[in-house]
Amino acid sequence: MAGKRVAGGGGREEDGSKVGLPAMDLALAFPQATPASIFPHSVSDYYQFDDLLTTEERSIRKKVRSIMEKEIAPIMAEYWEKAEFPFNAIPKLASLGVAGGTIKGYGCPGLSITASAITMAEIARVDASCSTFILVHSSLAMVTIALCGSEAQKQNCLPSLSQLCTVGCWALTEPNYGSDASSLRTTATKVPGGWHIDGQKRWIGNSTFADVLVVLARNADTKQLNGFIVRKGAPGLKATKIENKIGLRMVQNGDIVFNKVFVPEEDRLPGVNSFQDISKVLAISRIMVAWQPIGISMGVFDMCHRYLKERKQFGVPLAAFQLNQEKLVRMLGNIQSMLLVGWRLCKLYESGKMTPGHASLGKAWTSRTAREVVSLGRELLGGNGILADFLVAKAFCDLEPIYSYEGTYDINSLVTGREITGVASFKPAALARARL
Ligand SMILES: Cc1cc2nc3c(=O)[nH]c(=O)nc-3n(C[C@H](O)[C@H](O)[C@H](O)COP(=O)(O)OP(=O)(O)OC[C@H]3O[C@@H](n4cnc5c(N)ncnc54)[C@H](O)[C@@H]3O)c2cc1C
Repeated sequence: MAGKRVAGGGGREEDGSKVGLPAMDLALAFPQATPASIFPHSVSDYYQFDDLLTTEERSIRKKVRSIMEKEIAPIMAEYWEKAEFPFNAIPKLASLGVAGGTIKGYGCPGLSITASAITMAEIARVDASCSTFILVHSSLAMVTIALCGSEAQKQNCLPSLSQLCTVGCWALTEPNYGSDASSLRTTATKVPGGWHIDGQKRWIGNSTFADVLVVLARNADTKQLNGFIVRKGAPGLKATKIENKIGLRMVQNGDIVFNKVFVPEEDRLPGVNSFQDISKVLAISRIMVAWQPIGISMGVFDMCHRYLKERKQFGVPLAAFQLNQEKLVRMLGNIQSMLLVGWRLCKLYESGKMTPGHASLGKAWTSRTAREVVSLGRELLGGNGILADFLVAKAFCDLEPIYSYEGTYDINSLVTGREITGVASFKPAALARARL
């Protein structure tokens, strides 16, 4: 049955109050199909992927799926539309027990990489913004502290981050250095008792409210990359929300300005001394990002599968039309192959055989394949395919930033291309020769 949530809600005054008539209750406006606030059952596991998982992995998958469907699905369209982060949902997200992922100790769950990846997909299946929030907090900020931090830094930061009592962000990208992030210009200058950070960052997820900011900056003396833990409210630190995003609207991405931000010596991450040092962090996070499009595709498939059976045209359910069935089957086939690629990536990582090219191919390929899934899903829902209330439009938009972050599709393809050919092609050949 259709849900009771009131969709939309008229225009807004400058002070945020609503004007005009409220939108009609969706259950009355469109009684034929159930909106995503009542999340559909999972029906995409056609090749029984669950059989490849351990009992523990199956159990955490089930737990995360259940919490996401019950607690997050009813509120996500509203927060997505308002482009606000649902702070009241933080305890629910903490109850998933996934923050800290594979990290052992310090209150972290110590999951297998496979468990961590499938839970990332389960979160993305219901809401991609929540999965990005967790990704940045856990797989970037927490993993950097765990792999590159001192014992004191781990003891100090990880326990509260693992319970989501505090929130982390991870700042690499700059306005002038996106794909070319290793050329970043934010500087860290040695001063008595610590460092001064100066510069600018862009797109940093969670940064407008994060308690712990993991910041990558260039050492003014050595010119090498260093990492720092910057605390919320540090004098000279300013994070401003990036407005008007068309995807991952619940995620609060910020522009950050550092103006002589003092970081005490004990907050410099001793394990970050070059760009290579963060490649082990990026290896884990790229696997996690590869699983986001898988989860998004699963949610879209589940939604379309239910919708096509509920909605009738020409006197029969939409599911009865051959064209619709072919689209549904193409989506399902893509999901089966994505699941197997994602799973194999985890196994390669677990056995120590995963290369940067493997991880990049995984991320590039799942995000490209998922683009076909969400675009077919959007078609299948007709007009409702552009409404956030039926998930698919929201998922369609949410996939786009994922296609572009943690290395765009192109950059990840070039990482794999370099590995399989032995030739780096990031710079046009003429410029590379001229060493520009
Ligand atoms: C929603 C969102 C969240 C993000 N969160 C974070 C975060 O938390 N922390 C963080 O540090 N960063 C974050 N980012 C930044 C993200 O990683 C960058 O946006 C991404 O690396 C691409 O950089 P860019 O946007 O500057 O694109 P550009 O580098 O300007 O690229 C533009 C286009 O040119 C292509 N291109 C660039 N160089 C090459 C090349 N050598 N060969 C071929 N094609 C090329 C790209 O593939 C792309 O199509 C986030 C971004 C988004 C959109």
